[in-house]
Amino acid sequence: MVDEVKTVGGNLPPYLSSSSSSMFDQCPSKWKFRYVDKLPDPPGEPALLGTFAHEVLEFLLQEAPECRTKERAKELAAQIWPKIENNDDFLALELDDAEIKEFKWKSWNAIEGLWKLEDPSKVEVKDTERDVRVMLGGVPFRGVIDRVDKENQRLVVADYKSGKPPKKRFAGDKLNQVLLYAAAIREADGELPNKARLLFLGQEIIETEVSEETLKAPIGKLQDIWNELNLACDSDTFPSKTGPLCAWCPFVTYCPDGEEEVRQRLSTQRVRQDAPALSALGLI
Ligand code: SF4
Repeated sequence: MVDEVKTVGGNLPPYLSSSSSSMFDQCPSKWKFRYVDKLPDPPGEPALLGTFAHEVLEFLLQEAPECRTKERAKELAAQIWPKIENNDDFLALELDDAEIKEFKWKSWNAIEGLWKLEDPSKVEVKDTERDVRVMLGGVPFRGVIDRVDKENQRLVVADYKSGKPPKKRFAGDKLNQVLLYAAAIREADGELPNKARLLFLGQEIIETEVSEETLKAPIGKLQDIWNELNLACDSDTFPSKTGPLCAWCPFVTYCPDGEEEVRQRLSTQRVRQDAPALSALGLI
């Protein structure tokens, strides 16, 4: 556990998480809007749905194995629902009754989707929502790990996903997150997990073996991003990296480069009509 980390630039965060690191890698300017300027980035419906499903499964897997049933999951969902329903971000979606019903239905599909991947009563759970803060290759890293299991006497780190699984060629990038979690568990507990696993609820499991060799690339990438982030914070220079994701960026209205990118994509019909930037910029 790392108690205190000295930071170089005033804006450098004390810890780098997987999501913060990915955002900086995708676009340093987006990272600055989010983590330095702290501009609003309210979670949309898919993120809130993921939060709801995660919370139900977190509590379900804390139950005794024989109690991890769909009926118990339903009870937990009913207990947790008022918290979601009264959440400011959820209220801001302004869903009507039919849309709320659909939200609940999709959430239940995600929760029930766990049974398509595994029998929860047979999982040997060691930890849920494990908050780990460690140094990884000289980088202060923080991860909140959905589950650490024991399987055949070895540890397995697992993360729930309620979105679509990636295409095969992008699976490695997605697995980097759980590989970093495995490295963090090794630092925290002195035991290297055997597997790192992504549970795409209702769809498929994507997993990889963990070894010193498979940890090298994600830790190396984390170090590179941390070094770049240090330079960016020192010089207060956060370049924009435009691309297709500008059309989905919550900060596009603050970003002239991003707006230009979206306008060009629209003029050449290279942007989906449901991309949020189109309405945010008043282009549709
Ligand atoms: S709109 Fe594009 S370039 Fe601008 S911050 Fe967002 S992702 Fe980066």
